[in-house]
Amino acid sequence: MNELRRDPVSGRWSIVIQDPMQTERLLVNLRERARVTEKYDANCPFCQGNEAQTPPEIYAVRTGTPPNSPGWTVRVVPDKFPVLRVEGALNNRAHGMYDLLDGIGAHEIVIETPEHSTWIPEMDETHLVQVLRTYQYRIADLKKDQRFRYVLVYKSHGEATGPAAHHSYSYVIATPVTPPRVKQELLNCAQHYQMKERCLLCDIVHQEESEGTRVVVDGKDFLAFLPFASGSPFETWILPKQHETFFEDNAHLEELAWILRRVLAALCDVLHEPNYVMLIHSGPNTSYGQRRGYWRTLAQDYHWHMEIVPRVRGFTSFEIVSGMYVNFVPPEHGARVLREKLSATPGGGL
Ligand SMILES: [Zn+2]
Ligand SMILES: [Zn+2]
Repeated sequence: MNELRRDPVSGRWSIVIQDPMQTERLLVNLRERARVTEKYDANCPFCQGNEAQTPPEIYAVRTGTPPNSPGWTVRVVPDKFPVLRVEGALNNRAHGMYDLLDGIGAHEIVIETPEHSTWIPEMDETHLVQVLRTYQYRIADLKKDQRFRYVLVYKSHGEATGPAAHHSYSYVIATPVTPPRVKQELLNCAQHYQMKERCLLCDIVHQEESEGTRVVVDGKDFLAFLPFASGSPFETWILPKQHETFFEDNAHLEELAWILRRVLAALCDVLHEPNYVMLIHSGPNTSYGQRRGYWRTLAQDYHWHMEIVPRVRGFTSFEIVSGMYVNFVPPEHGARVLREKLSATPGGGL
């Protein structure tokens, strides 16, 4: 019997298909992707040596070289075609019955590596720590701006087009409103805390650790697992085991980098390097003057996490009309496949 499962963090429902034949059909139909291996592309604005092709950098990890020249390991630049612009006031106003703000925000690109085709599973942990630390630095810096309610970090692997399509990069986007998905999480976590005086995600960590069936990596400070009501096959979350509200406060990036690299390597091996979205949900910007109701117990009730969502197929019409997901790979099955992959390659990459 298929199961309707509810994710307590997002509040969404997923239909988890319990039919090994359908799971198998989905997995065997995934096609191997041809990998680009060039380390430099003259037309790619993100490659080392092509710094003049991007707007001036906001930040870079460098060893003594001047800004906007080669000699960096991670580089942050504004998006050339930002969806939100950093200059100006919000001009919060009404248009008849509708609400309106000016398109103020920040839209930054974190170029994760100077090399054209190097992707996360190929980066060593020291380098990946620099990438994660750059996210932390940019989140903390953007949160000093009281116009921004939220700073979202995410990357989309495999979906970009154009000359930089094969270069590994991520986005940092600051918005003057809390994105609805995050707001729903904040509300659900606050509500859980109100009822139980416990953090919802701490409860999830304990439940997943004690059940074990959906766990991929049980580390010292982090847990990687496939959520009970996963909306997509092999959707994987990484959480700090100790309660922590803000990603930018985390001091265990070495282990996080190690787990992230291994999980992505295993996912890409099993699913033949799928397109995937990776995101970090951290607490909102509390420097904003007027505190919202759902922030009252924020330090106790919200727990940052990372989500990796492989996109192995498009949405079905049922998913679009209902807002419910259909997942053809039960998370218990997906976690077992990933654990087997990782135990076959202890310690190293895949
Ligand atoms: Zn490049
Ligand atoms: Zn917690």
